[in-house]
Amino acid sequence: MIYRPSSHNIKNAAHIIGLGEVVAFPTETVYGLGADAFNEQAVQKIFGLKGRPSYNPLIVHLAETDQIEEVAWFQRGSKVHETLKKLYRFWPGPLSVVLPRHPLVPDCVTGGLNTVAVRIPAHPVARDFLKACNTPIAAPSANKSSYISPTTAEHVYEEFGEKVAIIIDGGKCEVGLESTVISIVNDVPVILRPGYITREQLEDALGEVKQVSYTVPSRPESPGMLSKHYAPKTKVVLKKNIDPGNLPKKIGFISFGPAGSGEPDIPLTVRDNLSSSGDLEEVAENLYDALRKQDKMGLDLIVVDTCDKTGLGAAIMDRLTRACAD
Ligand code: AMP
Ligand code: MG
Repeated sequence: MIYRPSSHNIKNAAHIIGLGEVVAFPTETVYGLGADAFNEQAVQKIFGLKGRPSYNPLIVHLAETDQIEEVAWFQRGSKVHETLKKLYRFWPGPLSVVLPRHPLVPDCVTGGLNTVAVRIPAHPVARDFLKACNTPIAAPSANKSSYISPTTAEHVYEEFGEKVAIIIDGGKCEVGLESTVISIVNDVPVILRPGYITREQLEDALGEVKQVSYTVPSRPESPGMLSKHYAPKTKVVLKKNIDPGNLPKKIGFISFGPAGSGEPDIPLTVRDNLSSSGDLEEVAENLYDALRKQDKMGLDLIVVDTCDKTGLGAAIMDRLTRACAD
């Protein structure tokens, strides 16, 4: 059921976490499906509900930076610690940092890796919930594996119905795309997944930062890099890749704006415009809702606009490229 984020409901949700159950909660990026990171059976329930492969690790969500050492393992003053401190400026916020893992973190959380991804989200409801839980919360996005991430409580309900007993409603997610994932376990930090916190911002904080490429093997370093992910059931194609000689009947178009601009010269059944001013922040915020909407319309094809792969555009094009993958 969907619950409003009253302090009573948040307390109740935290109590349910203590009993080893899962709770869906809002963050500024997308909705998460959370369980006590130290309770293996509870974490396994997340994998079961999502149909997520066991090798794909979960991000551990914390209320405060002083909880990091409960789940990560590094020496004070070490290079990892110094780099981590330079990233504090992005927290609370949409950044997940991959660190060496604490031995007490269960294998199922990290997919058997010797690292753990950690995030301190900024959404006030997420923070209240995490504080009330008083334990690190392992949480992937609250959707079936490889489908589009949810950006409203209703999206989560569409995915799981009553199988998730508590969905805390925090309204529409402001960022709308999954967090940036950066690994700082090696010499040069690597962006494993682009997001709202851009490469440019990370380089400003850390100096040189590498970015993994879009084409990746089927079991890569960060399983979120799988080429087919974040995808509707309907076939998706980027506008620049339309094959005019081979058009199906019912086609939807998702444009970045302004309305009517950049429309491909093909018959369209439906159009959605994500931002009347072409603002990429607005495009990111509205993208998944539009993809979900068009995916429910029985279309043969969804055509999406494109933008430059700089700044936030890198994350938008990363998700769209993977939504298009076969
Ligand atoms: P989700 O929460 O569904 O957006 O998925 C979490 C993302 O973080 C996936 O892309 C994971 O592969 C990635 N991730 C989580 N833990 C690690 C880790 N220890 N090393 C690398 N990537 C990770
Ligand atoms: Mg996900």
